[in-house]
Amino acid sequence: MTIRTDHGLATRTIHHGYDPADNQGALVPPVHTNVTYAFEDIDGFERASGTGSLYSRPHNPTTALLEKKLANLEGSEACLVTASGMGAIGTALLGLLSAGDEIIHHNTLYICAGKLFGELARFGIKTIAADLTDPDCLDDLITPKTRAIFFETPVNPLLDLIDISAIADKAQKAGGIKVIVDSTFSTPVLSCPLKFGADMVVHSLTKYINGHGDVMAGAILGSCHDINFLRHGAFNHITGATLSPAAASMVMRSLQTLTLRMERHSKSALTIAQELERHPGISWVRYPFLESHPHHNLARRQMQSGGGVISFGVSDGFDGARQLMDKLRLISRAVSLGDTHSLMTHPASLRSGDKTHPRAHQVGVLDEMVRLSVGLEDAGDILADLRQALASPKPKARQTG
Ligand code: PLP
Repeated sequence: MTIRTDHGLATRTIHHGYDPADNQGALVPPVHTNVTYAFEDIDGFERASGTGSLYSRPHNPTTALLEKKLANLEGSEACLVTASGMGAIGTALLGLLSAGDEIIHHNTLYICAGKLFGELARFGIKTIAADLTDPDCLDDLITPKTRAIFFETPVNPLLDLIDISAIADKAQKAGGIKVIVDSTFSTPVLSCPLKFGADMVVHSLTKYINGHGDVMAGAILGSCHDINFLRHGAFNHITGATLSPAAASMVMRSLQTLTLRMERHSKSALTIAQELERHPGISWVRYPFLESHPHHNLARRQMQSGGGVISFGVSDGFDGARQLMDKLRLISRAVSLGDTHSLMTHPASLRSGDKTHPRAHQVGVLDEMVRLSVGLEDAGDILADLRQALASPKPKARQTG
């Protein structure tokens, strides 16, 4: 079978990288569960030790096929799949950085990525948190020791957009700095950061790319040079965050519906975000494709559609947000995002762990904010659940004076 390079994204999610003729016509790629490989003679054994087809951590035919497919979709030379999104971030950072290096990151990150950045000081790596929604801040922060700039876009949970081209421009001018983008919220269907000048992309495949809430997986995408360096160094010897072939096979099954799912997530999320903007029980709504979003123009430039996550503020604050969560019937109270099921979290409750006295939160987390990952249910049913959960908000305290 010939897959042409001009085939569309949906066609490539299904066909790229695999010819059934190589496996007796089997349309679904076989799962290679082997850990090790046997060789005819010592010469073959010796040759394999140079190429990596010796042991399943650095090379497995099933994970290799997933890597080939993801690289094609993202427009990268190479890919390395990992046991989780954190496996991807950990492998990239521990592989690229050494004692004495500096890394600049956006001041809001997925919480566990933030914890990993917090650990880097133990290894002699300086981390600098900055507001990268203003790329000009880099002019004062880049030093000869800066090795990398790391950020998500859209940023979890407030869905700020970061201008990849502007950041990549500054990194290129300074020289020797890798721009690493966590593109989990976008997937290659909505945005390909490498096209905007990033050097490396990481994904939690656990979210939209697998999309069914039943696999943990991650990926790093970039040049052959960078990915080989990570595979044979950090991945193989430091993190060892190997993805199982069975999990890779599940992700490939899901990949075939990724374009359809992203279309539906985005369409429903935009409808729901627009409705929420009109609801009296809600004080603000953040969604990249709403005109009220502060980075709306950038979102339109950088993304094909707005994705499936909405954040909004409940008028009755911390308590109101907790009441809303308690009254949900269809939407699940659950962390994570990108699943078929709609999921909602109240980050301030999760972070404070204290029902009555929310502590100071990480940048981007507000008392009244809930994050909704819009699933694939009917948008009308999701909206109906939100409306009933928001019904009869507490009367507002009357302003005096
Ligand atoms: N990056 C982002 C933006 C995330 O939201 C998450 C998890 O929520 C991760 C990375 C980590 O992925 P995983 O849970 O697959 O380790």
